[in-house]
Amino acid sequence: MRVPLDSGHAEHPVALTIAGSDPSGGAGLQADLKTFQQLGVYGASAVTLITVQNTRGVSRVQLLPEDLVLQQIDAVLSDIPPHAIKTGALGGEDLIRSIAARLAGGTVPLVVDPVLVSKHGAPLADPPAVVALRENLLPLAFLVTPNRHELERLAEMPVGDLVEMRRAIERLHEAGAKRLLVKAGRAGDRMLHWLAEAGKETVVLETPWVQGGNQHGSGCTLAATIASFLALGHSDLAVICRQAIDRVWQAVASPRHFGQGISPVDHMAIESGDPSGS
Ligand code: PLP
Repeated sequence: MRVPLDSGHAEHPVALTIAGSDPSGGAGLQADLKTFQQLGVYGASAVTLITVQNTRGVSRVQLLPEDLVLQQIDAVLSDIPPHAIKTGALGGEDLIRSIAARLAGGTVPLVVDPVLVSKHGAPLADPPAVVALRENLLPLAFLVTPNRHELERLAEMPVGDLVEMRRAIERLHEAGAKRLLVKAGRAGDRMLHWLAEAGKETVVLETPWVQGGNQHGSGCTLAATIASFLALGHSDLAVICRQAIDRVWQAVASPRHFGQGISPVDHMAIESGDPSGS
């Protein structure tokens, strides 16, 4: 059943992604911009790092100079103020702390996708960067969207069962992350997500597991979908997350495959428009 979202407010909604580039178009800022566009949100982007990759693997990661990244962010913020901001792969510790300083005090909802490795296992953040994410960026986030591996590294503890998952989430709440949507993983024929808000009961959201589905960029696309709904003015987080998971599932399950490796999510399959009809 499709739950209607509450109606939006922005006449011309804008979202900014601060993320890395994936030339194959499945993940990174390319995924974010396609998702924004598909959902009727104007997309702006600040590039943090450039990967050389295709669906078969990542062969190079080049971080961009800190001043170049910050200038891009300033150029957008001073001219096209976004209604939501999303971060993806950010690069090094210093840059993460500087980005956090730029975003601190802002009133626009921030979705932090704490990207640490690519789907092929290529590292996109070193240990000091993980500390900077936890200390500086997570407390600013409206929502943080880690997968289980990212949760383990951010909380600095293993997450092998549900008890450990709760403890790791608690640690991130203590570190200032107010809300988390944890991509908890596969349970039989289902994929589980936990929506954890400090002081509230955890909500478990499920989708069917798609065998051979389009996985590359699924995390980026989920966070970008949530950022789009926030930019559109929706505010009920449980409904937003439910809707976003359903939309991304469509892109993962789409029969259109691209490339010869891990197929990227099919952004064109994301149901377009605002489901509230406004
Ligand atoms: N950002 C960049 C630039 C990437 O290259 C990747 C993965 O390759 C990601 C983010 C994360 O991708 P996913 O959504 O598949 O976890």
